[in-house]
Amino acid sequence: MRLHLENNFSNNLPADLIETNETRQVVNACFSYVNPKIPSNPKLIHASNETAKLLGLSKEDTESDLFLNYFSGKELIPNSRPYSMNYAGHQFGNWAGQLGDGRAILLAEIKSNKQIYALQLKGAGSTPYSRRADGLAVLRSSIREHLCSEAMFHLGVPTTRSLSLILTGDEVLRDVLYDGNPEYEKGAIVCRVAPSFIRFGNFELFAAQNDLKTLQQLTDYTIKQHFPEVTSTGVTKYLDFFKTVADKTCEMIVHWQRVGFVHGVMNTDNMSILGLTIDYGPYGWLEDYNYNWTPNTTDNEHRRYRFENQPSIAQWNLYHLANALYPLIKEAKPLERILADFKKKYYFKYIEMMRAKLGLQQEYKEDERLIASLEKVLQISETDMTIFFRELSWVKKNDSAGSALANIHEAFYKPEEIKKELLKSWGRWFEKYLKRLNLETVSDADRKTKMDSTNPKYVLRNYMAQLAIDAANNEDYSILEELYELLKNPYSEQTEQEKWYAKRPDWARDKIGCSRLSCSS
Ligand code: AMP
Ligand code: MG
Repeated sequence: MRLHLENNFSNNLPADLIETNETRQVVNACFSYVNPKIPSNPKLIHASNETAKLLGLSKEDTESDLFLNYFSGKELIPNSRPYSMNYAGHQFGNWAGQLGDGRAILLAEIKSNKQIYALQLKGAGSTPYSRRADGLAVLRSSIREHLCSEAMFHLGVPTTRSLSLILTGDEVLRDVLYDGNPEYEKGAIVCRVAPSFIRFGNFELFAAQNDLKTLQQLTDYTIKQHFPEVTSTGVTKYLDFFKTVADKTCEMIVHWQRVGFVHGVMNTDNMSILGLTIDYGPYGWLEDYNYNWTPNTTDNEHRRYRFENQPSIAQWNLYHLANALYPLIKEAKPLERILADFKKKYYFKYIEMMRAKLGLQQEYKEDERLIASLEKVLQISETDMTIFFRELSWVKKNDSAGSALANIHEAFYKPEEIKKELLKSWGRWFEKYLKRLNLETVSDADRKTKMDSTNPKYVLRNYMAQLAIDAANNEDYSILEELYELLKNPYSEQTEQEKWYAKRPDWARDKIGCSRLSCSS
């Protein structure tokens, strides 16, 4: 197994001068050196062959002892010096100060196929940033991160990747319901992979510490390494950088809304500077199309991170990134302009994305009304988002409103309701939709093909991940494997896997781990 180490981040940015592993405030440093905890009995549960390939690793490599040792933290990659990154953040709207990688340890940056990849273990023990927590992760949350990162990638959503899922052989104490009944669970480690794990919070940290030297160093480094599209100099360089981050973030959020992904904890420390979906915690997938839904029980009261709010929270987070970069720019107006543009661009891209979901290739101003009225009717009738959009592609231009509606009947959670007052609303919407379809020149068949490439058939429904977890807790990894394979082709018909194309079962409606998740992980 050959890995070409690069270590650009740690070679170019200031390190914490203290090298002992105890919780502390770290100043004037982008990271602290720390080694992973040696696991007592590591066991590989699953490796992503696709992510391995990115790194130049073969299937045989992933099955080797060396792979198990490196990615469980048992053995260091030769010549590597692992570290945890220092960052701050706003959590649930409040300034939280220094956070940092409390349970993430970056093993190395490597170069493969001319690309740089950072390899980071999540759950490999405490770091100087662990505060009062243990730095560990449990099997349940690690399965969720491993499966979802890969599923998101195959859906075409910008995301960090997951190379491996390994049991440590150690037990971890967790209070899942936060009700004073902690229990031991199996410890696990995921190896995440991304060009960089730098977050908005890395910049916020140095701005808050008034350490403008490190702020500038980090920003220059980030631009040089990861934003080749930024070629300007001086203040313009920082503005172009911010604008590019805003654009990438916008792109990511449009994808989330397209597939019905709710991140659950959009704190600024969980916002990748590269616009990648990062830190899979209490995330979830919209089942019934409910704008208000969030899977995160910690956020039950204010629902700050609900589906509907994701675009405006992204903007709020960008505002805080702008504040952090302000000392390098010293002019508020251009930053404000970029923030205002974000909203406009998002709306434009959202409409464009919804048009694609509806199979509309031409652009008419009235489409916005058609989309808004669909959102309304989808919400008043408890409709499964994924099934609705997937079945919608069966509608034919010559259909009557009634027969068009029959196509999506399967998407209703309470079909009996649709017979009554809701039938009229749906009928009206389909009349408008059919009228609009008839303005298109594309054939029904071609439209269907296009729609099916933007409306996934298979997503990692909340209960599916839970089934994989329940089985894995009993050492049965077959569901995990099955879902991993299934989600590699989310837009394809997979006739033998039709059972996963179904509405959330009733038992999962309110079950913890299915529609409701805590941050305990
Ligand atoms: P999150 O909201 O999960 O992204 O975590 C917020 C902060 O808490 C980050 O600084 C994490 O590194 C830290 N954190 C979360 N869980 C743990 C843990 N079990 N041990 C140490 N730090 C943790
Ligand atoms: Mg985090």
